[in-house]
Amino acid sequence: MFDDLKGRSAIITGSTSGIGLQFAEGLASLGVNIMMNGFGDAEEIETNRAGISESHGVDIYYNGADMTKPDEIRHLIDDAASKFGGIDILINNAGIQKVAPIDEFEDAKWDAIIAINLSSAYHTIKHTLPHMKEKGFGRIINLASAHGLVASPFKSAYVAAKHGIVGLTKVVALEVAEQGITCNAVCPGYVKTPLVDAQIADTAKARGITEEEVKSDVLLKAQPTKEFVTYENLNGIIAYLCSNAGSGATGTSFSIDGGWTAQ
Ligand code: NAD
Repeated sequence: MFDDLKGRSAIITGSTSGIGLQFAEGLASLGVNIMMNGFGDAEEIETNRAGISESHGVDIYYNGADMTKPDEIRHLIDDAASKFGGIDILINNAGIQKVAPIDEFEDAKWDAIIAINLSSAYHTIKHTLPHMKEKGFGRIINLASAHGLVASPFKSAYVAAKHGIVGLTKVVALEVAEQGITCNAVCPGYVKTPLVDAQIADTAKARGITEEEVKSDVLLKAQPTKEFVTYENLNGIIAYLCSNAGSGATGTSFSIDGGWTAQ
């Protein structure tokens, strides 16, 4: 299944870590050439880039565009389009988080979260669509979150950005519905990325409880399965949405959240 993905080309923003890096690995394993993006240690990024390319026999490039900078985003899209001779798949995954009450929220953090988690997708989509229209094919996937559908306290900017990206997803889907291009949002619950791992240890220390208690009583309280969403869970929906089989799904949100938003 998903043989049609072989030879496609994808841009994945924020793919130097966590979920985005696993998307790069997952799509590469299905024969997709990839433009990686994100911050981090240059040596580690190069090791990952070369490793994925070698393991799966696909072309993997890296462009370090800062998702807060529209000019750099435009260059990222141009770079990918010229290397691949077009763009088939765009995954807007880069994201940051900040947890604080709104009356104590730093203005600069609000601006950064809106820029990276929401506005960057506007810019990537705007510059990618002409390439997709030319091919008559395109798959745009926006990484939202359970927080794109419901809220939690102390995450004002994140929840606003993620709700915003769900709305943007619908508009884009409608605008290009007759041109072979789909646009969908994926809304994960908690995924055990390196970032969340660090939160578990810190929270256990701060509350004087075990890491197991942090997972079940703090992080996974909202998630009925009491299990983290896995990279495999997410790679499954990504492969489906990017494939020809996904052509009928557009303008919608896919919750992969262990039942969180069913409540
Ligand atoms: P992560 O911190 O492991 O990865 C974030 C990526 O974004 C990194 O590659 C980072 O370098 C990149 N990035 C950050 N700022 C950037 C900028 N200015 N320009 C370019 N790249 C930038 O986080 P993750 O947990 O893998 O999250 C990935 C996405 O999934 C985010 O959009 C996040 O909101 C969403 N998400 C995560 C979870 C979770 O539980 N981990 C749940 C729901 C949604």
